Amino acid sequence: MELSEIFYSLQGESSYAGLPCVFVRLAGCNLRCTYCDTKYAYEPEFTLSIEDIIKEVEKYHPVKLVEITGGEPLIQTDSVILMRHLLNKKYKVLLETNNSILLKDIPNEVIKIVDFKTPSSGMCNKILWDNIKYFSDHDELKFVIADRQDFDWSLQIIEKHNLLKYQILFSPVHEKLDKKVLAEWIIETKLPIRLNMQLHKLLWGGGRGA
Ligand code: SF4
Repeated sequence: MELSEIFYSLQGESSYAGLPCVFVRLAGCNLRCTYCDTKYAYEPEFTLSIEDIIKEVEKYHPVKLVEITGGEPLIQTDSVILMRHLLNKKYKVLLETNNSILLKDIPNEVIKIVDFKTPSSGMCNKILWDNIKYFSDHDELKFVIADRQDFDWSLQIIEKHNLLKYQILFSPVHEKLDKKVLAEWIIETKLPIRLNMQLHKLLWGGGRGA
């Protein structure tokens, strides 16, 4: 498989934020979001077999939380086999995906963190709406918000598709929307929306290995 990096850190986004986690960042992405903060993952740094990826992950024993991320991990079809192997080894597997590739074959046990591309991403028209029927109760839906238009659009999508039964995450675009402003907007809604603080960026400023 083509990889960008494998590293150990704290989970930074989602309701798992703050937990020690091994990250497997697969290389390549089929989208080009305006605010992309992982452009370095567009091209591979190295290749490894699935067996060798598992060996790398196991180096961080006894950590049992693994996140498969990218880029967009699902453009490499072997990512599903990788997830199955990790599940067989009793890892809790998080999958970060950009919601433009069908989720039909993802094992149920995998916790999908699905990014709904907001208008400011420039990739809104790439959302695969059919994916909604493949969401599981434990999945989490992320909306990255740059401005009020993104915020209002996200609320409309949540209502239209009855998405509040999932964990909803709203993240401010780093250095574009003040997190306090987003916090106030969320409070006003009185809805169970979680402010997603991108912990890794607060702690280490983001970038490789964080
Ligand atoms: S989907 Fe993710 S990795 Fe791909 S361009 Fe958008 S933000 Fe970057």
